Amino acid sequence: MPVLSPLADAAGIALDAIARLADRLADRRGLAPPRLALPPEVLDDLRGVFGDAIDPAAVVIRRGHVPGVPHPRAFALPGLIYLGSDPGIVGTDRPRATPTLVHELAHVWQGRHVGPRYVPRALFEQVRLGRSAYDWRRVLDRPAGTAALRGGRGGWPIEAHAQLVSDAYAARYGFARAAAGPVDARDRRAMAAALAGLRAGVVAPRPGASV
Ligand SMILES: [Zn+2]
Repeated sequence: MPVLSPLADAAGIALDAIARLADRLADRRGLAPPRLALPPEVLDDLRGVFGDAIDPAAVVIRRGHVPGVPHPRAFALPGLIYLGSDPGIVGTDRPRATPTLVHELAHVWQGRHVGPRYVPRALFEQVRLGRSAYDWRRVLDRPAGTAALRGGRGGWPIEAHAQLVSDAYAARYGFARAAAGPVDARDRRAMAAALAGLRAGVVAPRPGASV
């Protein structure tokens, strides 16, 4: 069931505004979990993934869950990330963003370059498909997915795109046993195209775009 884009954008904007207001109120009362500060090394890595297409330092990223709602999983609204049980940054000698944080920042990128419509679309995908909403290989296996990768109609599903970005990051920095598993040549092409698209501000590069 396609969601009309203007309505979906309005729903995404409304959800974001409500969540940010609730977050500010919780913060004012000392109930919000702490903000995650991004060290310079992490910002460098994120610039290598997203280029200048988003500013991760401008996003409110909180380590923990929404006050009174102990959700383990992370989520992202256009300007607000709650990491749930994920630490967001790992490593002490050389801190790195976790693949989960990169997944959530991919949603922030979508909010800017796809539109707030990504919020209701992602919810719809999760309800309809469950965990397989994140399976980007399933999208590549479909002829439509291949077309989307080449800039065809429809583009990438929201969660599969965010997970592809996250897995590309995990593969680049050697996060062992990433959810993606072994990466073959087709996977590498998809990852390279997705990362090039991020920096160019498009979900999928145009046909013939260098990646
Ligand atoms: Zn997601």
